Amino acid sequence: RDYTRKNIDITYTDGSGDKKWSSRDFSWTKELEVHNKKVFGNRSFRPNQREIINATMSRRDVFVLMPTGGGKSLTYQLPAFIEEGITLVVCPLVSLIQDQIMHLLQANIPATYLSANLEWTEQQRILRDLLSTCNYKLLYVTPEKIAKSDALLRQLEILYSRGHLSRIVIDEAHCVSQWGHDFRPDYQNLGLLKQKFPETPVLALTATATASVKEDVVQALGLANCIVFRQSFNRSNLRYIVMPKTKKCFEDIDCFIRKNHHKECGIIYCLSRMDCEKVAEQLREYGHQASHYHGSMEPFDRAEVQRLWSKDKINIICATVAFGMGINKPDVRFVIHHSLPKSIEGYHQECGRAGRDGQPSSCVLYYNYSDYIRVKHMITQGSAEQVTSRPPGRSVSKHEQALQTHKENLLCMVSYCENDVDCRRFLQLIHFGETFDPSHCAKTCDNCLKGLRWIEKDVTDIARQLVELVSSIRQACSSSHILEVYRGSMNQNVKKSNHDALPLHGAGKNLAKGEAARVLRHLVTEGILTEDVKKSDYGSVSSVLKVNHTKAGGLRSGNHIIVLKFPTPEQAPKMGKLDEPSISQTNKTVHQQSEVDENFSTLLFETLKILRTQ
Ligand code: ADP
Ligand code: MG
Ligand code: ZN
Repeated sequence: RDYTRKNIDITYTDGSGDKKWSSRDFSWTKELEVHNKKVFGNRSFRPNQREIINATMSRRDVFVLMPTGGGKSLTYQLPAFIEEGITLVVCPLVSLIQDQIMHLLQANIPATYLSANLEWTEQQRILRDLLSTCNYKLLYVTPEKIAKSDALLRQLEILYSRGHLSRIVIDEAHCVSQWGHDFRPDYQNLGLLKQKFPETPVLALTATATASVKEDVVQALGLANCIVFRQSFNRSNLRYIVMPKTKKCFEDIDCFIRKNHHKECGIIYCLSRMDCEKVAEQLREYGHQASHYHGSMEPFDRAEVQRLWSKDKINIICATVAFGMGINKPDVRFVIHHSLPKSIEGYHQECGRAGRDGQPSSCVLYYNYSDYIRVKHMITQGSAEQVTSRPPGRSVSKHEQALQTHKENLLCMVSYCENDVDCRRFLQLIHFGETFDPSHCAKTCDNCLKGLRWIEKDVTDIARQLVELVSSIRQACSSSHILEVYRGSMNQNVKKSNHDALPLHGAGKNLAKGEAARVLRHLVTEGILTEDVKKSDYGSVSSVLKVNHTKAGGLRSGNHIIVLKFPTPEQAPKMGKLDEPSISQTNKTVHQQSEVDENFSTLLFETLKILRTQ
């Protein structure tokens, strides 16, 4: 199979275009409407819910792409309640399952779950109950149960043979795919469900799927002729902002929250456990009620933090991405990314936790290029650990492929942040195979709000020179060093390494500020230059630039032209500052940076006003 990204799609029957599924003449229509109100307390259906329910109750395999908060759970819980038999739900996290079960039991719908954290005797009892009394409507399991528990499979086989296995639901189905941002190996075994229970309809649900992930899921689960429902991933009540991450990032975050969301509820995503603790502590010093949440905490403490946050006793949670899946809080008013997310899918989903009640909410990403190096390092590290603990049967090369995908995903994210011209919604949605007319953004992202006019500029020569420069320097250099040489700097480092004698030393000295840096970063996002992460003996992480000669070929031969968008000259000064990475640490830069922040604070305030008046 050809796994080159983006080019894959398969032919679907697109349910959303098929009127038949929205019909109100199904034999179960009346019952659906009554119980949606009475049992689930909903006044009506949300977009696509009725259609999905009709399709799955017609016993078709269904694949659902619906943004987080769209209401996917109802599409199987309501059928499960109405129909005879039991619905098997595969769900990746126990915390998620427990949350669902709590809601179901509150609505008097009998449901239970099996997972490794239950006592063995308890599991035995549940398994027995399945066959003897079987008054459960829903059975939730973690994927490893399907992979490892023969006892469970035996019970399911009996239920199936009696015609009591009415539906199989795969929640968070993107976990099947290595190309997704949240791959779980046990999900790959779920294909056996379709093999063992071919007559039972499967309902796969996800809030994340690019074309390649979608294809992977459909294939791995063995969905036959499935009907796909997808709806726009645009979340019109969210505004998207990318901010330069400076040394005073904490102050910026404090100021942002104070100005826009004082005392409101929010999530701050951080890269490492230590960052979570640091950010939370800083915010407490600024007088916010913040706590951290990450994987190294005791389960009890973690649950407690989540509980306090859910009950509005704490308003800000500083967490790693471990926090969030299945978080149901409707009034999250802001999601802040303190560092670079690992992929656009992940970013979109994390942002999706804001504003589930439909009220205006903010998503702010603090970006600097050096975070890219940190994240890349983490990805490479994490993958190295996975390789050593690789389950038998999974080859190293497959692992390397996955690592490659992670790196590509990360580069997409960098290029999203680097883009200071195009509508953020447009940039995100294109990733989900959706087109979006930026005029519909109505200035609810930073780039549209800036309303800059731009010109396209051919930067091929600059790009070529930078590539030459990188390949002409033997010893490994960081991107900031390359830029210094290119700009003609005579600083200690440049002189010491004799790089002031290079022919290209100073070749870029007449370029507008930030321009060379912008081109260099573009070369990295295009894969023509690669940043290799190096760990020094002291444990600090640095990066070295290398040329990918295969990809640089076109640039050298003149076949590859690089055109970038730049703001028109009269607006350039303002943009120049935004564009400037925090490579130079002179006072001047710091001064300029704070002006930028003021501009931005105003910008942010305006976007919020616009959203609120809409
Ligand atoms: P998803 O799984 O798509 O992220 P959920 O199923 O968790 O979303 O639903 C998100 C929220 O929307 C829940 O609080 C749920 O009760 C609510 N919800 C779902 N369907 C409806 C509806 N038809 N009317 C009102 N609220 C709904
Ligand atoms: Mg869900
Ligand atoms: Zn926009």
